[in-house]
Amino acid sequence: MSRAVLMNNYGTPPVTFVRGDGTELWDDRGRRYLDFLCGLAVTGLGHAHPAVTEAVAAQAGTLIHTSNLFANEPTAEVVETLDRLIRSGPGGDTEPGRILFQNSGAEAVEAALKLARKHQGRGRHGVVSAYGSFHGRTLAALAATGQPEKHEPFQPMPEGFRHVPFDDYGALEAALDPSVGAVVLESVQGEGGVVPAGDEYLQAVRRVCDERGILLVLDEIQTGLARTGRWFGYQHAGVQPDIVTMAKALGNGVPVGAVWARPGVAAAFVPGDHGSTFAGQPLALAAVRAVLAQMQAMDAPAAAARLGGALRGQLLQIDGVDSVRGRGLLLAAELSEEARAGRTAKDIASACLDQGLVVNGVTPTALRLAPPFVVSTEQLAEGCSILAGVLEHG
Ligand SMILES: *Cc1c(COP(=O)(O)O)cnc(C)c1O
Repeated sequence: MSRAVLMNNYGTPPVTFVRGDGTELWDDRGRRYLDFLCGLAVTGLGHAHPAVTEAVAAQAGTLIHTSNLFANEPTAEVVETLDRLIRSGPGGDTEPGRILFQNSGAEAVEAALKLARKHQGRGRHGVVSAYGSFHGRTLAALAATGQPEKHEPFQPMPEGFRHVPFDDYGALEAALDPSVGAVVLESVQGEGGVVPAGDEYLQAVRRVCDERGILLVLDEIQTGLARTGRWFGYQHAGVQPDIVTMAKALGNGVPVGAVWARPGVAAAFVPGDHGSTFAGQPLALAAVRAVLAQMQAMDAPAAAARLGGALRGQLLQIDGVDSVRGRGLLLAAELSEEARAGRTAKDIASACLDQGLVVNGVTPTALRLAPPFVVSTEQLAEGCSILAGVLEHG
């Protein structure tokens, strides 16, 4: 007799986790792990955060879903708070924007691309994004993703997308012909290897977009909500995007994405232009409301900056770590050739998992570390000592 199993798009998972608490996870054999990955920069407040658990449980017992044909109770406060945080950095807009909820990151990017197309009009539907970027797996988000090898099996891609080298202003400017209506960038390329954009680069891109009436879309799905040490990654550069996409940390694991746009851009969407059955439902929005309240109460950006600085310092002490890049608690450790000893970063991550540390290989030679904002300094030291052991002993 054969059993039904999952499709193989993720390969065979190595571990079954059954429980979490803060930075810790336990598998089905009772083994404890330190989670320095957070489900790919999602559970910023740690696992089973009491305030999020309580909010989700209470909402589940009250009202889970009604559709977007009707208003719901948690939304107004969430929209108000998110809008304020998105504009809170240096150079932030004074005028409030508008927000659209989705269920995931790719959907948020998809909605942002549709909004940009509708606003700019046919003939100005071109989108320029960067090589090495990651914007999601739906067809248009995949087309924006600057990794041609991910396109190949699914050709033809939707029309109008082109890519330029990341953090290279000259290359970007040269690609801005009159058909281009939007530029889509990450403030730190997450999946692309944790590569931050230079502040001057983002400032120059903002200027040229202003001059030419091009929309600047910042994909903050991985960097947003405190991870880089500011509420949003673009706030390090002091620029305000026209459109911002969010998802990962927004619900601390409850699936939810969002798009923010300046009011004049948001106005392009009128009834009938876009929709989603589940998006913006009370259950997800109750989670977001609790997440935002907790993040503000603990000053999550400050925690990410402080703990990220500590983690960076400890990583640099490890024999076998050549350099560390990234911002706040979104870091990549570049491993030396000697320490890798013929292994890829993926092999090293799997050896770390065996020793009770969850990280991932973000390039063949670098590990990504994205612990939660509630990680303790003892846990940072414990995680670094596991990594040091793996690099030393193989
Ligand atoms: C993860 C990610 C996405 C895709 O989000 P999903 O929820 O997996 O669809 C898009 N953009 C960036 C920058 C991401 O890190």
